[in-house]
Amino acid sequence: MQLNTITELLNIPNYKVTHMIRNTSDRLHVMLDQMEATPAVCSGCGNIHHDSVHSRGFIVVEDLRISGKREFLHVPKRRTCCIEDGAIRVEEIDWLSGRFTKRFAEEVYRLTAITTNQEAGCGTWASMMKPSSGLTGRCWKTVPWRGSIPFSLRPI
Ligand SMILES: [Zn+2]
Repeated sequence: MQLNTITELLNIPNYKVTHMIRNTSDRLHVMLDQMEATPAVCSGCGNIHHDSVHSRGFIVVEDLRISGKREFLHVPKRRTCCIEDGAIRVEEIDWLSGRFTKRFAEEVYRLTAITTNQEAGCGTWASMMKPSSGLTGRCWKTVPWRGSIPFSLRPI
């Protein structure tokens, strides 16, 4: 699959696929980068601190499937020094929710709203609960429903 095609399928504003990291029978890992550099939004205070990029790294997040394959995006993230408290903060990216894209999290949320715990059972979600999936591995039946996605969505 061409990188431009994947970029179009992903349709993430101002991000493009720069290269394919891994393409197996069931998973696709691609590296993204911004098309035009935008200032980093501080995850601590929500402001932009110009000229204060401390370091760069990336986060791996799961997105919706493409061509039946689980899709993992390697997204660059900058760390900035927050002028409010002096702490090093990872930038906030508005289409991410922890280790997932927001649309992936919303899809899981939608599916769980349709399927009750009794209907789903643990087996249905077993494949998603592997440690490599980034989820906590807790069975849905053991997680009390409080109207939010009951697994770790902690930002890095
Ligand atoms: Zn800040």
